[in-house]
Amino acid sequence: SKNEIRMSFPSNSENVGIARITAAAFASQLDLTISDIEEIKVAVSEAITNAVIHGYGAGEGEIEFTLMLDGDRLEFVVADHGKGIADIEQARQPSFSTDPDRMGLGFVFMESFMDEVVVESAVGTGTTVRMVK
Ligand code: ATP
Ligand code: MG
Repeated sequence: SKNEIRMSFPSNSENVGIARITAAAFASQLDLTISDIEEIKVAVSEAITNAVIHGYGAGEGEIEFTLMLDGDRLEFVVADHGKGIADIEQARQPSFSTDPDRMGLGFVFMESFMDEVVVESAVGTGTTVRMVK
């Protein structure tokens, strides 16, 4: 079966939790284990938190979150129109962070919990993270 939900919301931390719960509800269309659902919630939260913190920093911008189901394939797309990433390969390295107070593990969680993670980004234009499970 197919389903698609598109939402867009301002980049504040309350909305990370709302998107996380939405992802879990959307994923529950499939007969997944609780741990699969937990992994999806973490991966989605990491991508949306990145858009809030790194994409828009102290300012506010719009985040687009798309949830797609096609058969037993789940796809989540998180897009911001913020700062963008200069070096995507470096950003995806474990422990790499541009913020000394952070762990640099967001992409590591996304990659370990999802089957496919595709990052597209351009400085000054924004970032799109596409994740498949
Ligand atoms: P943690 O996720 O552990 O709190 P982190 O956010 O720094 O730390 P990652 O989520 O792995 O680590 O991201 C690595 C780096 O990629 C970030 O430090 C940031 O420089 C950059 N980055 C990630 N997402 C975005 C985004 N949406 N816009 C701009 N830069 C981003
Ligand atoms: Mg992060």
